[in-house]
Amino acid sequence: MLHDAHFHLCGDDLRNEWNKHHMQGIVNADCPSEYAYLKQTLRHTKGVRISAGIHPWKANQVSWEEMIPIMEEVSFIGEIGLDNVWCDVDMQQQKEVFERSLDYAASVQMPVILHLKGMEQEALSYIRRYKNTYLVHWYSCLDYIQDYRELGCYFTIGPSVGRDEAVNQVALQIPLDHLMLESDGLDALSWCENRSVSAEEYTVFLNRSITQIARIKHCEETHVKDTLNHTFQQFLLARMDP
Ligand SMILES: [Zn+2]
Repeated sequence: MLHDAHFHLCGDDLRNEWNKHHMQGIVNADCPSEYAYLKQTLRHTKGVRISAGIHPWKANQVSWEEMIPIMEEVSFIGEIGLDNVWCDVDMQQQKEVFERSLDYAASVQMPVILHLKGMEQEALSYIRRYKNTYLVHWYSCLDYIQDYRELGCYFTIGPSVGRDEAVNQVALQIPLDHLMLESDGLDALSWCENRSVSAEEYTVFLNRSITQIARIKHCEETHVKDTLNHTFQQFLLARMDP
């Protein structure tokens, strides 16, 4: 078994890969049309769940009213967060959407997938106010790793592990029982690799992350793979066992 705790589908067909590798995962929907597409695509697929939420990049495009019926249907809220590096969406608007989403997720005890870029310190004060289960996706900041760890957050290791010192530090500092794998989807892999990555290569990168984590932690790859899979199962249970 392999898992991919955070990814986007973007029209890619990964069903062959999922079947071949007994994949489990959480795929992200950030607007109603993407959610409808994912539901249709996944209707015969076991093991892939959907997370839904208003992405910080879309805080000024997607309304709460159109997303709330979807958030009520799924089991995970995300990715949501704050980003002052990769988008120029008004920060006040981002904060309002983020806080409303955190408040909703905590009220129904639905685990949250976080996207944080440049706002890692400020986001901590929000997370402290809303007690819940959190997964920080592709964390790439050298600071505050221990602050998030002390709050019990899970982390997914981005595919840049081995090449990005901040991601390496997450792999080093966070114990395996709070670490999971993510691809962030083929578009993100292509961005990371600076070339077009095909569906057939999808699991190569998840396995490469396992190799890198094993190297950083000085552990056997099989131990890393088994433990990360177990962590993913524990994270799924957080929905049922708040
Ligand atoms: Zn993502």
